[in-house]
Amino acid sequence: MPELPEVETSRRGIMPYVVGERVAGVLVRDRRLRWPVSAEIDRRLPGQTIESLDRRAKYMLFNTAAGTMILHLGMSGSLRLLPRETPPGKHDHIDLVFGERVLRLRDPRRFGAVLWTEAPLATHPLLAHLGVEPLSRALTAAHLHAITRGHRSAIKQLLMDGRRIVGVGNIYACESLFVAGVDPRRPARGLSRARCERLVLAIKLTLRKAIRAGGASLRDFVRSDGEPGHFQLRAWVYGRAGLPCRRCGTPVRRIVQAQRATFYCPRCQR
Ligand SMILES: [Zn+2]
Repeated sequence: MPELPEVETSRRGIMPYVVGERVAGVLVRDRRLRWPVSAEIDRRLPGQTIESLDRRAKYMLFNTAAGTMILHLGMSGSLRLLPRETPPGKHDHIDLVFGERVLRLRDPRRFGAVLWTEAPLATHPLLAHLGVEPLSRALTAAHLHAITRGHRSAIKQLLMDGRRIVGVGNIYACESLFVAGVDPRRPARGLSRARCERLVLAIKLTLRKAIRAGGASLRDFVRSDGEPGHFQLRAWVYGRAGLPCRRCGTPVRRIVQAQRATFYCPRCQR
């Protein structure tokens, strides 16, 4: 599933090719994504210039003077820039035509979304209740400390709650907790200010590292061949159950929290 770093890398990869460019045409081959593709995409978007390409959580926001196209990659979506004449594959559902290039959405499992809005973005039902952006200045130790108060849930579950912090998926939650040395089972409300400080730094570091790793594969987004792969993060604990901790050698433990696998080192994480 594309996580925040992949979405951010996609955004950075396609930005130079679409921002300031006029949408010459839109071709929707299949509207049946998670929600039906907004009819306004084909009606309102052609002729518009993409003024900016922003991201909120895992939503990409293509802003024009007429409104905003909201795009989510869902479970299996990917965006690629291709020469206009490239024949579409079975799962290539939408093309945005820019001059000689098309921006093509491929989504085999069709859990993605392409919607249109002309209302202020902050009021959109998909965006209104999102938590703080982890890479923004708004996520500080003080902020994390404040949002953890009064929470009975384990810190890992809170990190993955998009209404509090967006974009920290399972892998990044496990990895950040390891880097910060925090036991994932620890009740959120008991986290000290010092631990919040370490955890905030760890989250930003882990996500930035993944985005940097993606930067190396940026070219894939503008090439016609191959699938844009997921980032090869050299994990500290994620997916390493039973293997020795890279820091202390203790076997990494796997538990299940809220139906999600958690990996942690019982010695390094307290
Ligand atoms: Zn360890």
